[in-house]
This record gives sequence, structure tokens and C-alpha cells, in this order.
Amino acid sequence: MISKLVRENIKLMKPYFSARQEFAGEASVYLDANENPFGSPLPEQYNRYPDPLQVKLKEKISSIKRVLAENIFLGNGSDEGIDLLIRIFCNPGSDSIVICPPTYGIYEVCASINDVGVKKVELTAHFQLDIEGIQNAADAFTKLLFICSPNNPSGNSINHSDIEYTLRNFAGIVVIDEAYLQYSSQHSFISELDKYPNLVVLQTLSKAWGLAGLRLGMAFASVEIISYFNKIKYPYNINTATQRLALQALEDEQPVNNWTNQVIGQRKWLRIQLLALPFVKEVYPSDANFILIKVEDADFVYESLIKKGIIVRQREGCIRMTVGTPAENDLLIKELKNLAQ
Ligand SMILES: *Cc1c(COP(=O)(O)O)cnc(C)c1O
Repeated sequence: MISKLVRENIKLMKPYFSARQEFAGEASVYLDANENPFGSPLPEQYNRYPDPLQVKLKEKISSIKRVLAENIFLGNGSDEGIDLLIRIFCNPGSDSIVICPPTYGIYEVCASINDVGVKKVELTAHFQLDIEGIQNAADAFTKLLFICSPNNPSGNSINHSDIEYTLRNFAGIVVIDEAYLQYSSQHSFISELDKYPNLVVLQTLSKAWGLAGLRLGMAFASVEIISYFNKIKYPYNINTATQRLALQALEDEQPVNNWTNQVIGQRKWLRIQLLALPFVKEVYPSDANFILIKVEDADFVYESLIKKGIIVRQREGCIRMTVGTPAENDLLIKELKNLAQ
């Protein structure tokens, strides 16, 4: 069923076979990859190419996420996973994806770069899926559906049962982007991989894990889908520094859990403060580490905050603010209160 969705040229092509794949064992002399044998002009050595399949890092992620390593793909941020999905499944010029705006902008950008059509099925007034709209929009050339939950920029989680419905009824691949999962009380769809062969779950170390600068995104899917990721990715897509540092960071989840709990507490506090501001028309419920608010004059609020050195984001005529440290949030609320006067 999945192989019917994969582009014919991707099925037929021969992948690049790197030196480290041709010989993957341990040896004492490596003269196969034209590396500098002396070392690197750094305290740590980077003269050797990285592990193309990131075996150690996947083992670690496998134990944390309780998913087999063979069901994991690691990318240079989630963005690589999104781009590869489009290139595995969508023929340029004829195929399409479905997205549900307002949502993360990269899905459309990656589709456009690849000359893949974008069918937009707006979320409902409560930022939930328009199930019927999605079914109506999809045709024989629609290969992927992107669902972001909790959704960026609205912040809410998408109803679990609606996602399950689309997993059962959408004829293509359903991609669930769980970048903000840690901040919500929802279960990950990772545990449903066996049930739905058309499911791909995206997660990242960029948000709760505090490693946006390292660039490590994860895709969880069937062995078959993962094999296509591995077939078309650039051979050494995750560099040595990222592999080493991510492995080290994943040793201890405690600080991450502490930060996450703090963010959730601060989100609650911010919500109460924001609701009390006269020019705030709506504070949308958030399961993420940001809050979207509707205000009378988004341009004015945005520009005024910039003048005070506080940068937020304008989205859909609303303001999206990341939950900061308690001190940062205090300052934000103080400046917003000043605007009300
Ligand atoms: C921030 C974010 C990501 C993370 O992207 P990376 O490339 O892993 O940094 C993914 N999806 C959504 C919806 C996001 O908001």
C-alpha cells in the first residue's frame, strides 16, 4: 500500500553508497574516505566522516521513546524530514499535499520548492480539523496530509479522535508534527505506528530539549518508510558534533522536565495576565510553549514591543508570544500594561 504512494523514480534509483557504508566495521587503518589522517585544528577531532546512520544516537532515542531504532530517521532539524517526505512521495508538477492553515509555514515552502501543489483546508473556528474538507480536497494525486499538534501558531492540540479518523480514511501518508508535544497533556502518536502503516510522526530536539542550535529532528515511521528516508537523504546529514552532543544531552531528561514544567506554569500565569489587558480581545488556549492572542491593533502592539526590545511574532493579524523565563514574562506583561494606558 505504501509502495504505491512512493514516486516511481525513487523506487527505481540506486542510492549513493558512502565509504562508511561500504565498510561499517572497526579497523585500525582507514584509507577509504580521503580524510585528513592527522586530525583537526580543534581540541576535539572531526577529521573523520560521521556515522551515516547515527546508530548510537538512534539506540539512545529508541530507549527514551520506546520505539525500535529501525523505525527512526534523524534529520538536520524536522525541516529535513518534511522536505524528504515531499520528495519521497510527491511527483513535481502533478502531485499535491494537504495542509490545514493557520499552521507551520515550512510544509508549504517545501512543497513549493519541489513544485508540488498545496491544498489548503482551513482549521475550524476552534482550530480543529475540517475532516470532511480534507476528504473532499484530496484526490488521486494527493500524497501527504500534514497535521501539526499542538498546532503552531494557534497553540491548541488537535482532537486525538479526529487524527485517528484521518489516519483510517486519508488515502495517503498522514504526518503528525509533534514539535510541542511535551507542553501538552496529549499522548504521542508514536505508540500507534504498528496500527497505521501510513503514519509518520515528527518530533525535534529544538523546543523542550533546548537544542535548536544543534539541528536534530526525528521522524518515526514504518521500516518501509524509514528505508526511503535513508535511501534519498544526503549520506552524512547529521554531523559529528550534533551526534556527540545530542547523545550527551539525552543522558539526563531531568532538566528538560523541570524547564517544561516551568514553562507550563508560566503559560498559565501569562494567560491570566493577558486576559486582564483591555486591548486583548482573545487569548487562545495553548498546549504549547507560546500563546496566541487577538488584539485590537496587532501592528501597534508589535511595533511598541520592538521599541522596548521585546520581539514577538505577528501571525494571522494576531500576536504570538513564546513563553520566556519568569523575568522575561514579567517584563513583557509590564510593557503590555503600559500600552493599555
Ligand atoms: C519549531 C517547529 C519545528 C522544529 O523544527 P526544527 O527544524 O526541528 O528546528 C517543527 N515543527 C513545528 C510546527 C515547529 O513549530
